Amino acid sequence: MLNVRDLTVSYGSFQAAREINFEVREGELVVLLGANGAGKTTVFRALSGLTRAGAGSRIEFAGRDLSSATPRAIVDAGMSHCPEGRKLFPALSVLTNLRLGAYRCPDRADIDRRLERVMALFPTLSTRTGDPAGALSGGQQQMVAIGRALMAEPRILLLDEPSVSLAPKVVRQVLETVAAINRAGTMVLLAEQNAYAALEIAQRGYVLENGRIVLDGAAADLMQHDEVRRAYMGA
Ligand code: ATP
Repeated sequence: MLNVRDLTVSYGSFQAAREINFEVREGELVVLLGANGAGKTTVFRALSGLTRAGAGSRIEFAGRDLSSATPRAIVDAGMSHCPEGRKLFPALSVLTNLRLGAYRCPDRADIDRRLERVMALFPTLSTRTGDPAGALSGGQQQMVAIGRALMAEPRILLLDEPSVSLAPKVVRQVLETVAAINRAGTMVLLAEQNAYAALEIAQRGYVLENGRIVLDGAAADLMQHDEVRRAYMGA
């Protein structure tokens, strides 16, 4: 279980995350909803050790305190981050981008086995392994980014806004695969602005506004919530 208590992150004097509390339980897919600038990426970067959390923040995963752990130790503990904007190496091949996700794994046979799993999840990538990642469509690049995160064989996948700049049909395909990854046993924390599509696959959700959690509940309840419908579903 991922347990986050009193997470605060500041950029200079600006608090982008303020005393945030949430959890992802074993087997869950949890969505973090928030508009542009709400603080979703800040939370993800703090979880994966890329941004330092403030004093008093507590990040626990699988019973371990990772509040001040290095990104490498966090990957080793089973958390893998698929960043907003994909952050692929566009000139490198799809295969090389994927292999980079397994940089902590010394065993070649194990890496090949992980690659097979990624290809089974994203069959369209198997015909593109030699192509530069930058030559792929936006949806395929998102698949590579998720695949790269899965190459670390995480127990929890931190997935930051995978639907950005994708067509609705592609968003659906990507999120269906995320649901399949979760069903196969990986916990998922998914940041999204696309509330309806995200709540459809999640069990629970939290709503982030100006760096604070303002609402949380079962996905089905949040979908019916007036504030969520008004802010994210155009109701
Ligand atoms: P988006 O969907 O636009 O990425 P977000 O919910 O992920 O939004 P964050 O990127 O976490 O939001 O940003 C939260 C707030 O922190 C915003 O006001 C943003 O301008 C500010 N911010 C983010 N990164 C920095 C930084 N490195 N320095 C200063 N302010 C920052």
